Amino acid sequence: MLAKIPGPDGKLPPGVKGISLFVVPKKLVDADAKLTGERNDVALAGLNHKCGWRGTTNTLLNFGEGKFPARGSAGAIGYLVGQPGEGLRLHVPHDERGPHRRGHGRHHAGHGGLPRQPRLREEPPARPARGPRGEGPIETAERIIEHADVKRMLLAQKSYCEGALALELYCARLVDEQHTGAEDAADEARLLLEVLTPIAKSWPSEWCLEANSLAIQVHGGYGYTRDFPVEQYWRDNRLNMIHEGTHGIQAMDLLGRKVLMENGRGLQLLAQRINATIERAMHVPDMAVYGNALGQALAQVGAATKAAWASGHPAEALANAVPYLQAFGHTVLAWIWLDVALAAHAAPESAARTGRLGAMRFFFHYELPKIGAWLAVVSQRDATCAALPEEAF
Ligand SMILES: Cc1cc2nc3c(=O)[nH]c(=O)nc-3n(C[C@H](O)[C@H](O)[C@H](O)COP(=O)(O)OP(=O)(O)OC[C@H]3O[C@@H](n4cnc5c(N)ncnc54)[C@H](O)[C@@H]3O)c2cc1C
Repeated sequence: MLAKIPGPDGKLPPGVKGISLFVVPKKLVDADAKLTGERNDVALAGLNHKCGWRGTTNTLLNFGEGKFPARGSAGAIGYLVGQPGEGLRLHVPHDERGPHRRGHGRHHAGHGGLPRQPRLREEPPARPARGPRGEGPIETAERIIEHADVKRMLLAQKSYCEGALALELYCARLVDEQHTGAEDAADEARLLLEVLTPIAKSWPSEWCLEANSLAIQVHGGYGYTRDFPVEQYWRDNRLNMIHEGTHGIQAMDLLGRKVLMENGRGLQLLAQRINATIERAMHVPDMAVYGNALGQALAQVGAATKAAWASGHPAEALANAVPYLQAFGHTVLAWIWLDVALAAHAAPESAARTGRLGAMRFFFHYELPKIGAWLAVVSQRDATCAALPEEAF
């Protein structure tokens, strides 16, 4: 339980530094931690009726309203953990083990959108085609996968979900290296994880959700019903952009902290790794064009990072942190896809190889060019949103 302790003047300390952490049990214990049989003044106010994740319970609690007077009067008894004002630090620890524990939570949230995708490739049943004026059904059965636009939606889902899975596995390897590598390698893995964690959390949260939305679209009207599980996947995965730090907070963590920390060393390390993949691509004739595109994207992200901070005002730089996060994420995913494609290119012919190379090409042709629009508002420190007065909404 996070709560503030009033000062001697009866006022609550301002800001997050005034928050303290408490254990507030439902049943009271004595000094030897034995249950005394008394209820604490904690009452269930009701259930949250959630958009998704309906299999888990999420409740509202009332504290100290007198429903179960504790030791004779209204008021819940709580036990302070640590010192007053340390609540957020203890809840979201920033000690040397803390950020990684929190990081694991964020990787978990990012990973949350992934396992549901492969089933989305189950094809909806074939339906009879209709004639040109809507009369029908006519003789030949036409399967929806034969339409180029349906293939576009399937390929988008494949590129988002398999790309995100490859990113999560890359991060998992970095976590291993951080714990088992030699001192230098472990430190490199730590710093790369610092920069990649906001992406590993936010990118799958946003784009695998878009994949779920496209899966509904592919199914047409059936996608909007409960006949297929795709609407549930969308509802469940909608949470991922909210919990473990919202999208907006991840974006500010990336542009406000992670790309600046240790004089930008994390960003430089990531650029080195991306450049190593580009270098490999330049030696493979079919891949050089994608290496070049990735090199340009990386340069654009670097220039936008500088431009965002050119005035030195955090409010100006961070006003467009989310478009920055999106462009940074798409650049990281283009790198991941190029790496996957280089491995696929060297492998023998197979449907999986063709699919991976196709998904990489889709990502470079349809997705990576989006970063231009996202980075333009970042570089210009565009104030369209920040400057609009509240009453104009
Ligand atoms: C189903 C469910 C389960 C949960 N389970 C847990 C749990 O087990 N434990 C737990 O501790 N928490 C849990 N949470 C809480 C969850 O972590 C928070 O809802 C989440 O962190 C967002 O915080 P908030 O709801 O206070 O939104 P707010 O912080 O009020 O955010 C509202 C909007 O404002 C934006 N915003 C907020 N501050 C800023 C800023 N400074 N700059 C720019 N934009 C900003 C946000 O990005 C967001 O878009 C759960 C939430 C849900 C829905």
